[in-house]
Amino acid sequence: MAAVAALVAALGVVAAVVSAQTASGTVYLSFDDGPSRYTPRILAILDQYGVHATFFELGEHVAADPGLTRQVYAQGDSVQNHTWSHPDLRHVTAGVFATQVRSTDAVIRAQTGYTPLCLRPPYEAVDAGVYARAESLGKQIRLWTVDPQDWARPGTSAIEHRVLGKVKPGSIILLHDGGGNRSQTVAALPDILSTLQARGYAFATMWC
Ligand SMILES: [Zn+2]
Repeated sequence: MAAVAALVAALGVVAAVVSAQTASGTVYLSFDDGPSRYTPRILAILDQYGVHATFFELGEHVAADPGLTRQVYAQGDSVQNHTWSHPDLRHVTAGVFATQVRSTDAVIRAQTGYTPLCLRPPYEAVDAGVYARAESLGKQIRLWTVDPQDWARPGTSAIEHRVLGKVKPGSIILLHDGGGNRSQTVAALPDILSTLQARGYAFATMWC
């Protein structure tokens, strides 16, 4: 019977390893609408868990507090373009589109030395025209696949459950470090990170 018990135990170990391998994969954590006064708290949590993320920043917020953008970039996170003032890009002229993108490039470049190659249109508002204009400016559009609607402040546990219930290998998770009170997002982040790491996920950044 001892041999049987040992075999069962060994099979259990094998099953656990296979299960971990099945669940493992890469996810992309992204933060929109910053930088803001919540950004340093998010950076501290990311640093604590050894995780890097992609920050889609608004040019007007970078201009208001450029040191925050330097801090994000210096920590090894990716800083990308979310327009200057968050318009619906389907409904602006070609000139406004270009100004929204290029002015944001300029303030990010001034802090990082890097010109963003990814563009995340506000409100997930894209059509063929938005894709064509983005391409003409050398940008690739990057949206998301997991949206817990944290901006609506549904509660810390709701944010956690919505992320953890939908995430799978390759997921791009949308959270917000700016645009309002982000204390629920900050509070949800440690459990999200520790749970995803326990599931075997690695975190990658987007540079396009
Ligand atoms: Zn946004």
